[in-house]
Amino acid sequence: MSDHTNTQKNIAVAFFLNATFTVIEIIGGILTNSVAILSDAVHDLGDTFSLGLSWYTERLAKRKPDSRFTYGYKRFPVLAAMVNAVFLLGASVFVLSRAIPLMFNPEPVHAMGMIWLAILGIIFNGAAVLKLSKGDSLNQKVVRLHLLEDTLGWMAVLIGAVIIRFTGLLWIDPLLGIMIAVFIIYNAIKNLKVALIIFLQAIPSLSENGNLEKDLLKINGIESLHDIRSWTIDGSSHVYTLHIVAGSNVLPEEYTAMKQKVRDRLSASGFEHVTIEIDRNDEHCDLSNS
Ligand SMILES: [Zn+2]
Ligand SMILES: [Zn+2]
Repeated sequence: MSDHTNTQKNIAVAFFLNATFTVIEIIGGILTNSVAILSDAVHDLGDTFSLGLSWYTERLAKRKPDSRFTYGYKRFPVLAAMVNAVFLLGASVFVLSRAIPLMFNPEPVHAMGMIWLAILGIIFNGAAVLKLSKGDSLNQKVVRLHLLEDTLGWMAVLIGAVIIRFTGLLWIDPLLGIMIAVFIIYNAIKNLKVALIIFLQAIPSLSENGNLEKDLLKINGIESLHDIRSWTIDGSSHVYTLHIVAGSNVLPEEYTAMKQKVRDRLSASGFEHVTIEIDRNDEHCDLSNS
């Protein structure tokens, strides 16, 4: 079995397990009347949604560009991540609107039921962490870290439920619900920012851009640059277009070598799609601002 099929199979298994567990959690949250469990269910619904989408878009993103989508399908997962972040923000605000009033007016919860659900959550997420502990790819590390966070969240619910069971301090449940919701909102905003920056066509790396222009100007025969446009398709595949003004001492037959040097420098910084226009220095260019 190829590596790719394996990844696909792992995502599919994780998706179905997560979906099943989310349903158990929603029912458990209602039965125990715990807003902490409900808040965690929102988080797991988001996980299920993003797993389902990455299962689907992983294949889509690998499709070759066609005459309609000339850059390929790499932005579809970015759009999916953005939709997921917006959903999580809305759901977390809903949880907060329930949890905050409960802080001042707590309702009784079924602490024993919360304890059993938390144990189930720890076993479930802990097993997934162990299963992924062999993987070394960046993606697997990210997933493992996420599952570890989920396990820690369940441990907090377990400790909270035990305290409620023995002390009857009911405000602990909405407090846990608020903490989980705030954590979801923090991550959702972070993911939303990444996606927005891609859609708003910001340059891929602000810190590198200055150096890049300096390096290009060092190439023999280049007098100046203008109309530089740079953006990223999905955060890892970048585009760069520019005009080069060739010095009067450069012969047209030297253009090819000059262009190659520009491409080499840009490709070293991850620019896959480079378009270069050469202007002679006695030529008027509408796009030059000088
Ligand atoms: Zn999670
Ligand atoms: Zn020009």
